[in-house]
Amino acid sequence: MELNGIERFRAETGAALGRLPSLKQRHPEVEAILDFYGQVLERQLGMVQEGRPDARPVAEIPWREHVRSLRAFLELCSGAPAAELAAGSRRMLETDDEGLERLVQSFLRDKQAPPVERFALMGFLGGALVIPASFAGYDRHQWLKPVCPVCGFPPVVSYLADEEDIEGGRFARCGVCHSDWYYGRASCLSCGTTNDHELHYYMSEGVPSPLTIQACSACGGYIKMVDARQGSRTPELEDVATMTLDLWIQEKGFHKISPNLFGF
Ligand SMILES: [Zn+2]
Ligand SMILES: [Zn+2]
Repeated sequence: MELNGIERFRAETGAALGRLPSLKQRHPEVEAILDFYGQVLERQLGMVQEGRPDARPVAEIPWREHVRSLRAFLELCSGAPAAELAAGSRRMLETDDEGLERLVQSFLRDKQAPPVERFALMGFLGGALVIPASFAGYDRHQWLKPVCPVCGFPPVVSYLADEEDIEGGRFARCGVCHSDWYYGRASCLSCGTTNDHELHYYMSEGVPSPLTIQACSACGGYIKMVDARQGSRTPELEDVATMTLDLWIQEKGFHKISPNLFGF
């Protein structure tokens, strides 16, 4: 049975929080990042619990009504272990409500922001958009575009899963609102090429989830493909925990289609 967006976010975030201790042991190089990620996930879960159903499209959400919750998220970031994020978040907290509302709107419109702002806004929206996204009513099997059907961002990671109608289908995951949509696994999730000669695959024998990087020499973009059939169903966490793979593939000259919350 397919869970709706809110239930799926709760289940997946709960599973991610449960997996953090073992991932920290396995990936000590990202221990501090995973620790802080855990705090972010807890805050996002809290926002979903406190949130009210909102069936408006993302472009029509009155962000002024959510400024208090953005400030609470910035408070969390101002205690982050990364000094730059902590200082930048404190500066953002000095912005008035109207200014913060404009920051959210321009991030959603431009799909980019300087690193500290990007972290704060993406982390905040990661909680604030879960409920609106679950009301968005798109057909996740028919959307077939390389950008999120709800907020328009390119995907941050992808995963393989068996569903009723599709076995071993590849799904793209939005790193901003966590929406999922089907996208053929032999196509680039950035430029859409299906040319075999341009798509390269690098496997990593991850435990418990095998992971493949799909890199495209037509556009230079790459994305990870987590096999959710053989292990964890927490693709966003998997992506963060395997940062060393990003460094490795970026050395080869590829860029991530959409960097994750932590900017890699
Ligand atoms: Zn989205
Ligand atoms: Zn491409």
